[in-house]
Amino acid sequence: MRYVFASVTAAVLSLLLSCGMCEVASAQEIPFRMPEAPVDAKSIEDYREAIDAIVWVMVKRFELPVPRGNVEVHVTRESFEQGLVKHLKIAPALARSIAEFGKAAVGDYTLLINAPAMADLTWPQRIETLAHELTHNVQLTLANRPGLARPQWLIEGFAEWLAFNITDALGLDDLSNARVRLTDKVREVRQKQDLPRLLDVVTFADWASTRKRYGFDATYSLSFLITDFLIKRHSLSAVTTYFQQFQHSQNHTANFRAAFGEDVDTFDRAVHTHLEQLLSGAVPSNFSWSGRAATGIARACACGIVASAHVVMARRST
Ligand SMILES: [Zn+2]
Repeated sequence: MRYVFASVTAAVLSLLLSCGMCEVASAQEIPFRMPEAPVDAKSIEDYREAIDAIVWVMVKRFELPVPRGNVEVHVTRESFEQGLVKHLKIAPALARSIAEFGKAAVGDYTLLINAPAMADLTWPQRIETLAHELTHNVQLTLANRPGLARPQWLIEGFAEWLAFNITDALGLDDLSNARVRLTDKVREVRQKQDLPRLLDVVTFADWASTRKRYGFDATYSLSFLITDFLIKRHSLSAVTTYFQQFQHSQNHTANFRAAFGEDVDTFDRAVHTHLEQLLSGAVPSNFSWSGRAATGIARACACGIVASAHVVMARRST
């Protein structure tokens, strides 16, 4: 399924905010588009090129839709804060605290970039972060909804998975090395403490508190490993189907069954076994799935709750 968007004649527009006697360009607006040719990622030095490079790989390599909406590059923390209030519909006090450390956020089909907070990253690091955030736009595009409230483990896990696959496709990272790095990080965490049961972490509030309690690698890196297992056990197109199910139902467990042909509980048990083997070294980081996943697609029921929360991202806070 492809989404076609009206192109904006000017590639870059500036949103202007009044500041007394003068006007200051506070945010640069970059519409998503399908570029005419691939971009050499190693020479990227601006956000327009970075977004084009990522969208090209998403569409051409992974057969995902061009994301709906656009990017706002906020050149001041205050502007980013105002963008959070506008697009994520959150209270000003919460926006202020997120703007202090958040590098990017997604809400209402808009990817907000906090340019001052991104300034200390190299362009390959920024591209990895943007690819993660842009995946959230793709999730919303597939779901045809301005916000997705749950399940956070898969929303974040798929964003991590696709970010590392995109940087690999662009020649900025090596996916095999990334798998080893992330597995090692999660293994290190587990040597010190129990890992959270991420499949039980479905709401954003629970995700935020779990990240605070267990740390980045026990949430984001672990969600990569679980999603990597999910995609090897099923397929990338099943994940695409899963997010499309939200067009009709907000029942995430029914949507999971419809897309993957197995219950979350069954998958949870398989994850537990897989992580035991992966983290003990019984299977390599670059394992290939040889087991038998559940087959047969059940239809999701149409009943569901109306999601009101928006996807909120403050991924690289440390
Ligand atoms: Zn995220």
